[in-house]
Amino acid sequence: MSRSSASPSGTGPLGARIRALIETGGPLSVFDFMGLCLADPEHGYYMRAEPFGADGDFITAPEVSQFFGELVGAWVVAAHAALGSPRPFHLVELGPGRGTLMADMLRVAALRPAFREAASLHLVETSRRLREIQRATLGDASATALWHDRIADLPEDAPLVVVANEFFDALPIRQYVKTAQGWRERAVGLDEQGALRFVAGTGSLDAAELPAGLAGAAEGTILETQPLANALMEELGARIARQGGVLLAIDYGYARTAPGDTLQALRAHRPVEVLAEPGRADLTAHVNFEALARAARAGGLRPRALTTQGDFLLGLGLLERAGQVGAGRSPQEQERIRGEVERLAAPQEMGELFKVLAVAGPDVVLPLFDGV
Ligand code: SAH
Repeated sequence: MSRSSASPSGTGPLGARIRALIETGGPLSVFDFMGLCLADPEHGYYMRAEPFGADGDFITAPEVSQFFGELVGAWVVAAHAALGSPRPFHLVELGPGRGTLMADMLRVAALRPAFREAASLHLVETSRRLREIQRATLGDASATALWHDRIADLPEDAPLVVVANEFFDALPIRQYVKTAQGWRERAVGLDEQGALRFVAGTGSLDAAELPAGLAGAAEGTILETQPLANALMEELGARIARQGGVLLAIDYGYARTAPGDTLQALRAHRPVEVLAEPGRADLTAHVNFEALARAARAGGLRPRALTTQGDFLLGLGLLERAGQVGAGRSPQEQERIRGEVERLAAPQEMGELFKVLAVAGPDVVLPLFDGV
């Protein structure tokens, strides 16, 4: 049996389409491949799958515990105050998934009527299916919420308070591989059996994009760039610089540019081969926070020092909040709460891999990040 039939690659309807595209047009860049897998209107992952939760493919922090959204909500309320409590303002979430984070934030915001009354809700979401789930999760609040396909469609008339959890990791990246002929864009082609495989494409890497220290990298070294994430961050930065506001991005990723292949596919909570079943598994890449911060700066904002999800949540009082909620509960309930805290903040769980980037105008004194 050939290797490719032992480990089938490119199965399913989207796999067949991708193979046909490659047969006629040559290898697809990792960027185009990832874009099709995630966002193809018919077979894209976010368009058809039920990605989140215990029955889905992965669990995000808001789905792990309500503490996450409540603490992010408390930070957002404080950040709005740090901006001078503008009214009106737009409370924006990018890629809201099931809408749990927004719902949990709004529960906290309800305790601050001045904040809640000044806020209009905006959800940037491309998936029609997920929009319906978000609408149901938000309940009454959905009546006045607005959904947008693109960041560019957000209103321009008031400050933007933007939250993004696991949004940037879901955007297509480019990969480059060092070959004997120099850096080549990594692409998806076909092997002799017609199965998908990674190849070195024809595109090259702009010398200006090569980080210092990588000029002499060994053959096979992989470098990733995130042009789409950076472009969206720069656009948001420019908007916030003009309109006022703040942005909080939480995601898994690395603080400094470094080589490595971080493309990963998850199905039913287990890693699967990236090329195995296009559109059927969640496909993500680690976020390069150095590049994201640079993009925010290019847009006119000041990125604050990167922190970890663990330090961010502990700094906002995660342990105190868990203690309050757990007081007087059964031992089983207390154990569940302890487990949630552990999952969100322990270094070996989400606490260290997940990073938090806050950006705002240079003079805003942001809670937690600017020493207050
Ligand atoms: N923030 C949620 C979900 C993260 S998954 C949570 O923490 O649970 C990524 C989300 O981003 C999904 O809702 C997906 O449909 C959305 N998404 C992916 N690419 C997008 C794009 N280009 N524009 C808008 N939304 C996008």
